[in-house]
Amino acid sequence: MEKKQFKAESQRLMDLMINSIYTHQEIFLREIISNASDAIDKLAYTALTDDRVGIDRDQFAITITRDQAAGVLTVSDNGIGMTREELEENLGTICKSGSLSFKQAMEKNEDIDIIGQFGVGFYAAFMVASGVSVISKKYGQEQAWKWTSDGKDGYTVEPAEREAPGTDVVMTLKQDTEDEQYSRFLEEYEIRSLVKKYSDYIRYPIRMEVSKSRLKEDCPADKPEYESYMEEDTLNSMVPLWQRAKKDVTEEEYDSFYREKFYDYNKPLRVIHSSAEGTVSFKALLFIPGKAPFDFYSKDYKPGLQLYSSGVMIMENCEDLLPEHFRFVRGVVDSQDLSLNISREMLQHNRQLTLIARNIEKKIKSELKSMLENEREKFQEFYGVFGRQLKYGTVADYGAHKDVTQDLLLFYSQKQGKAVTLKEYTDAMAEGQEKIYYVSGENKDRLAKLPQVRMLEEKGYDVLLFTDEVDEFIPQTLMTYEEKQFCNAATEDLGLQSEEEKKAIEEKTEELKEFLCFVKNTLGDSVKEVRLSGNLGSAPACATPASGISFEMEKYMKRVNPDMVFPGERILELNPEHPAVQAMQAALISDTQKAQDYARLLWAQAQLLAELPLEDPAAYTQLVCKLMK
Ligand code: ADP
Repeated sequence: MEKKQFKAESQRLMDLMINSIYTHQEIFLREIISNASDAIDKLAYTALTDDRVGIDRDQFAITITRDQAAGVLTVSDNGIGMTREELEENLGTICKSGSLSFKQAMEKNEDIDIIGQFGVGFYAAFMVASGVSVISKKYGQEQAWKWTSDGKDGYTVEPAEREAPGTDVVMTLKQDTEDEQYSRFLEEYEIRSLVKKYSDYIRYPIRMEVSKSRLKEDCPADKPEYESYMEEDTLNSMVPLWQRAKKDVTEEEYDSFYREKFYDYNKPLRVIHSSAEGTVSFKALLFIPGKAPFDFYSKDYKPGLQLYSSGVMIMENCEDLLPEHFRFVRGVVDSQDLSLNISREMLQHNRQLTLIARNIEKKIKSELKSMLENEREKFQEFYGVFGRQLKYGTVADYGAHKDVTQDLLLFYSQKQGKAVTLKEYTDAMAEGQEKIYYVSGENKDRLAKLPQVRMLEEKGYDVLLFTDEVDEFIPQTLMTYEEKQFCNAATEDLGLQSEEEKKAIEEKTEELKEFLCFVKNTLGDSVKEVRLSGNLGSAPACATPASGISFEMEKYMKRVNPDMVFPGERILELNPEHPAVQAMQAALISDTQKAQDYARLLWAQAQLLAELPLEDPAAYTQLVCKLMK
């Protein structure tokens, strides 16, 4: 018989996996059982959608057989089975997901996506087995086939005998060594506990012959004698976790369900287990992950919830169930009110689904809100991971979902020295404060030192320090919060001056017209305008954007669209009360050269404070040295 080689990449991956990925060998059983369960799912699904297939669902089962003498463990199923080609395709190429091909085969029903695209499961068997045979008969075919491999150098395929459709995975366990007791996987107790631990909620019975003992017949009542016998037992409870009552599920069970189902090594941060009765009944088991998947903020991440109808999975990632702003939530939804062979188009217009989605959105919102109110630290941990998604969700679709998200947002409060909600900000607003002030930049500490922030601080007003790129889009989307307007303290009128004060500045501007003109001429095209400001508190000068688009936004836009021509004109604002500005005025009379140097110096300082790069840092240092002499 010809021996075929594994595809090269399969061989490499396999070595890698056998030696490193799975540190816990015991999970091989889970992988093999999951495959068996998936195979039964496929047959059940075929039966549902094809009237010709008459199948008794009650017969579906996974059977574990132990041959302790030969050191062989077998897992059998009466699922869909594999053809010769499928054996080669599916088991000859690691990482090639058979479910994907199955999916493509179900032309009319694109929705079915029974298992994930993580095609390494089966090979886990080689962690514990020195040889594996897979005997399989595809549903509807006459001939069965046997695939055999030692997991090292290829496999063989030959005709075989098998009465009914289904698959046997026959594993010859490795010899025990000093470090590893492979034979433990033949012990009843070991298998029982592994099934309980990893595969309890598998929907089909997992059966095994187990030893039991009974009272011997005919033995005298005062001298009871027992005999042992073998009997088939079902090892799993078969009830999906989400169908069980919340009070009967332990934290460990939720955790391991989550990790296994969603391929996460970390514990979930939050579990939401809910059920609804009414127009549409459903059970949902939702998880807020503790860490963001590495591809979360990329196109590759697939959001959505797994959709089940009466215990049969009909869609792997149902996006319609989950709003964009909560796309980090993972989980399972099961409803008996959905028809099974529902197509994607039908789903989109499905009223039940819309109702479920709305209900789920509400659930997640209220869960996050309660976390925010009652477990602040935990919420902050969550926010550190997914806060940005909530912000994106707030600005998406022109703020259409802001009512769901705005009260979950946190921003750093300069006055309170911690992250606060918009509600907390407005509740703590000082007497007379009319606006919600914010500034944005890369670094909180530097922002806190901006003259405008200092000025507001002196008045007892709080300022939100925005350091995330998306932050600045939020005031632009919300416009107001609790009827209070947002105000970018670095670029907009702070609204602090009385009419008289405004008038005084106007008069002063008129008075210092020539001086301002001189400064503008000295600085040339670097500034568009030089003007006086009453908003600078104790600072002499500051740079503001002429466009009204903040420097942060400007940087952001340049980053996302480097080719965009951006005018980026600046305004220099001077504080007429500041001694440095007054010194410049005085110099203008006695020493024009010096006055020019002062003007350049103040402009450079204004740019530094605004975190703008200096056009010529060398010239700036020379200037400082010159003035020091
Ligand atoms: P995955 O299950 O993640 O796709 P596996 O390596 O575990 O990856 O399995 C590869 C493929 O082999 C499966 O997708 C399935 O098509 C097929 N397969 C494995 N076990 C069985 C089985 N017991 N019955 C039918 N097909 C199976």
